[in-house]
Amino acid sequence: MKRILFLLCFCGNILLAQQTEYVDFKTAKAHILFGDAFDGELNGAISYKFEVLKDTDSIFIDAKGFQSVKYSLDRKLEDSTYNGNQIIVKYPFKSNTSHELLIAWETKPQKAIYFVKKGKNQHEQIWTQGQGKYTSNWMPSFDDMNEKVEFDLNIIYREGNEIFSGNQPSIVISNGKLVNKEIAPNSTVWHYDMQQPIPSYLVALAIGKYNKKVEYSKSGIPLEMYYYPEDSLKFEPTYRYTKQMFDFLEEEIGVPYPWQNYKMVPVKDFLYAGMENTSLNIYSDSFVVDSIGFVDKNFVNINAHELAHQWFGDMVTATHGTHHWLQEGFATYYALLAEKDIFGENYYYWRLYEYAEELLAQDKTGQSTSLLDPKSSSTTFYKKGCWVLHILREKVGDKAFRDAVKNYLEKHQFKNVETNDFISEVEKSSGEDLSEFTNKWLNKKELLYNEMIESLKKSKFIQEYLMVDCEMKTSKCKDYLSSWISDEAKSKVISQNRELVKSESFKNSIKVRQSIAQYLNEIPLKMKEDYESLLNDKSYITIETALFNLWRNFPKDRTKYLNQTKDIIGFNNKNMRTLWLTLALITEDYEPENKREYFEELTDYTSPKYGFEVRQNTFQYLNQINACNDDCKANLKQATTHHNWRFKKFAKSLLESK
Ligand SMILES: [Zn+2]
Repeated sequence: MKRILFLLCFCGNILLAQQTEYVDFKTAKAHILFGDAFDGELNGAISYKFEVLKDTDSIFIDAKGFQSVKYSLDRKLEDSTYNGNQIIVKYPFKSNTSHELLIAWETKPQKAIYFVKKGKNQHEQIWTQGQGKYTSNWMPSFDDMNEKVEFDLNIIYREGNEIFSGNQPSIVISNGKLVNKEIAPNSTVWHYDMQQPIPSYLVALAIGKYNKKVEYSKSGIPLEMYYYPEDSLKFEPTYRYTKQMFDFLEEEIGVPYPWQNYKMVPVKDFLYAGMENTSLNIYSDSFVVDSIGFVDKNFVNINAHELAHQWFGDMVTATHGTHHWLQEGFATYYALLAEKDIFGENYYYWRLYEYAEELLAQDKTGQSTSLLDPKSSSTTFYKKGCWVLHILREKVGDKAFRDAVKNYLEKHQFKNVETNDFISEVEKSSGEDLSEFTNKWLNKKELLYNEMIESLKKSKFIQEYLMVDCEMKTSKCKDYLSSWISDEAKSKVISQNRELVKSESFKNSIKVRQSIAQYLNEIPLKMKEDYESLLNDKSYITIETALFNLWRNFPKDRTKYLNQTKDIIGFNNKNMRTLWLTLALITEDYEPENKREYFEELTDYTSPKYGFEVRQNTFQYLNQINACNDDCKANLKQATTHHNWRFKKFAKSLLESK
């Protein structure tokens, strides 16, 4: 099992109208009200202040599918001209004049804001996702990322109704700093303040039941780490290295963190791994882990990636999809630098090697594109973008590279940028002409794989990895697994030739033992005891794989294996518990008196109370053992309306196959 990241791709948003040439929206004060009888409706009022740059007879605000809209210009002209997509304000606007536009609206948004249910009539969380979905689905705003506004959100949220039941009150989190909280009977107004402008796609809010802990960066920025009240034991492993990475990035980038604070909030059933809303990283709660889960899957890379975006994407924003790598390539590269600071140089080169292999695999399918092609894949924007920065830094040296990044950020702070804004700074600081480099690495679609591998060979660790090869069994191969070569090289040996695994191979590290579990599916009798020891490893992936293989290979010992792994839940997707229940159900003589209870528990995991990953696992298991009953089927049907399109697609195809 490999961690699959669904980070964001914001590909090719063609600018429809260059309204930014005519008008400059400066500030927005919004009031968002969530209704009492909650069915996904919200209403609000927003006050925009703007300046007219060139004479024009109308201005447009994006607002998708609203139920009703009313506005007033300068508190005089009242109107409600609205075409379902945009609010249209007709007026003879003169250049060098300032205005205020007040908009009140009601809507029941179809996307960009999600009301996550716990069960019937019970909401658990509300959260937003602007990028790729458009904030204008729930608040009048701008789909054009070149329009940057200082947004202050005031969110009115009614406590104590049946929707947010339970004793602990919910918390409302948004961009910027919480400056005031007005508590009235049954409702609270949360006032958030921003001090700098941002594009609308980075406006966000999250509502749910959370506890938080705050640490302070070296520079004094509050790092607010939110967690579910029941997850206090997962807090430390989940947020491990947060402060170290923050301090490292501020120092490495050379420009102070641009916002008042940095908040990290896990949410249920998120659409991606994480999202870099300004000062508010909303991320999937499947990255909330305990210390065993941390070994195989953790929040470190996502956290560093979204944090790096606070400079690259949030403070300087690409003008257009063509320059999307200025966001994703930089976030991927700087996340890797932060991880190098924690895990060391071998880790850095190893990840670069993995990125190169991913790019090579894409290249082989004929899907390589220019980095400046707005239709490029995420692999290209993220991984090739990262590689370009690595190669560029090698070419011009650390000092010129870091000076250029600093100058680029300072010169364009809170504005929009294009690729040349960055490249020209590198040319200035290095004194080099980069036209050939730009042509080779950015414009051309060819993947320069050989040059990438040459660069990696600076690392002895990678040299060794590339040298170790047991595709053709050589005399050295039999010794590799008990030698001093790296864990990665040993795993490569195992993947190439599983017959090389001997009893003493089990003396290796947890990572190598995991490879043994994954590749050695048929367990030789003489290694039975060694293999059984894998059930004690501190890795949920190893235990899951080992339990299944042992159960399959040694039917007589099934009860023993099940008893040994009875209390393990696994990751937040309950990988261990769902496998265990499935095996317990189909092991004939295992606890017949408890079978009903186990079946009910497993079936319950298909309900919307649980995250979609738990549900997906469970649907698969119940389907495999032909035990999806009426409750399970009803839950599967419900899943075909889920907001996560991958899960929805999965549910639809499973339902059709029935
Ligand atoms: Zn990103």
